[in-house]
Amino acid sequence: MKTVMWFRRDLRLQDNKALYHALKNVDSKELILIFQVNPQQFIKDSPNHDAFFSSVASFKRKVDKESHLQIMFGDPLDSFIRLKEKLPEWTSIYFNEDTCGYGTFRDQQSISFFEKNKIEYSIFQDTYLHGYNEIRKKDGGSYQIFTPYYNNWKEAMKETPIDVPYTSEKIFSESLFPEDEKRFNKMMDNIPIANFCRGEEAAQSMLESFISNDLQSYEKTRDFPYKDKTSHISTFLRTGEISIRTVWHKLDSVVTSLGKETYKKELAWRDFYNMIYSTFPQQKEVANQEKFRYIKWENNQEKFVKWQNGQTGYPIIDAAMRQLKETGWMHNRLRMITASFLVKNLHIDWRWGEKYFEKMLIDYDAASNIGGWQWAASTGTDAVPYFRIFNPAVQSKKFDSEGLFIKKYVIELKQVPTKYIHQPELMNKELQNRYNVNLGESYPYPIVDYAESKKKTIVLYESSKEYYREMLHKKLR
Ligand code: FAD
Repeated sequence: MKTVMWFRRDLRLQDNKALYHALKNVDSKELILIFQVNPQQFIKDSPNHDAFFSSVASFKRKVDKESHLQIMFGDPLDSFIRLKEKLPEWTSIYFNEDTCGYGTFRDQQSISFFEKNKIEYSIFQDTYLHGYNEIRKKDGGSYQIFTPYYNNWKEAMKETPIDVPYTSEKIFSESLFPEDEKRFNKMMDNIPIANFCRGEEAAQSMLESFISNDLQSYEKTRDFPYKDKTSHISTFLRTGEISIRTVWHKLDSVVTSLGKETYKKELAWRDFYNMIYSTFPQQKEVANQEKFRYIKWENNQEKFVKWQNGQTGYPIIDAAMRQLKETGWMHNRLRMITASFLVKNLHIDWRWGEKYFEKMLIDYDAASNIGGWQWAASTGTDAVPYFRIFNPAVQSKKFDSEGLFIKKYVIELKQVPTKYIHQPELMNKELQNRYNVNLGESYPYPIVDYAESKKKTIVLYESSKEYYREMLHKKLR
């Protein structure tokens, strides 16, 4: 008999529910560890892709020291068909569920295959503190607004970490598909692996360092990008190199502080957005609020490219977009400001921005990214009101008052004093010469007028609402 443990977004040997149960139920050399690479699933040659597969490669290196992680290339169903042909004695499989987007489709398709082929399957909720259907209203319905969800979420019992009795003794260690592994190695040859520090140990030490140094003051420091005092754990939660139960448990083992409570609340947003995506599976393509599905976006390609390249003439936006390009990560406050700017000042469809972030983020998580974009675009179930439009200069003064973050990424403005760093266009030619910047040449003038663009946004959103109202009216008549 052979059993499969199918790894997906849970690249770890510790505190892994499916792996724990698989190991409990197998004898020596019976458990086959698999990672299935579907080239269709990722945007090729993107930081998102490269970061994720660096984690897979790091996990494989770790497993292969004593046993073997099988790599299979291609469509998941084809992989399972090949596996069953090769090993007719394969009779059971364990994996941790995916309840959003492509992952749900893949799970359903795979389950039909297992049922047809009499392969027993065991599935576990491992990725979230609370799965999509655990936190419900009294009448059983799902929440749409974060605060009541959170009030219920914080009272609910959290699971404790699981001690996985991992031993290579139980793992089948011959390579079953050497050609697939060669293909994987070839793919990895083209990925600059040195850019990414991956693995369970790296994740643990990052968390420990954050808890020791920055957790207590998190509520005071988290909003200031130049301080860089958030945990950056998103890159490891995304791959499952650290378990969310372990994160929670480590938090619980230190003294209570406002910082700790604030941090826990952030983890609730992760669960909330997963629940929302499971409830509204169409939300990658469609605004959750129907009344905002008819906005006539300007979609100016040139402005979109300037936004991507950090060339908008709004220093805080440009610094943030350059941070994303250079590091594959962006601070949360900046994700909010840059997303709002694209949608409400450049009038570009939020789905364009969502797709760009998908390609660029090394911590890309579909539910949080779509949730974040729908929030900023005011189209989500619990979103910023459409008439509330971030003013980049005000945000910049508030969260980067001395322009330290701006100067780190927009080096053309290095010599500009605090007085002008948030709005360099206020400098006349003489001041520009004095501070070594030539607006329109070395750094752009603002590509849109903030006040004008704000007025236009209100018109666009109100027109969509009006159109929707008229449609409803017609339907009712
Ligand atoms: P910390 O401040 O240390 O927070 C700890 C953890 O809490 C994060 O790692 C994350 O898991 C969770 N968290 C914090 N804020 C949020 C939030 N608003 N929504 C959901 N979870 C949250 N997060 C992603 O993990 N992947 C994404 O693709 C992603 N895209 C986003 C796009 C937009 C437009 C916006 C506004 C937010 C997005 N977020 C995304 C949420 C948030 O920006 C990141 O989780 C956070 O910046 C990651 O850095 P950190 O680990 O240092 O966060």
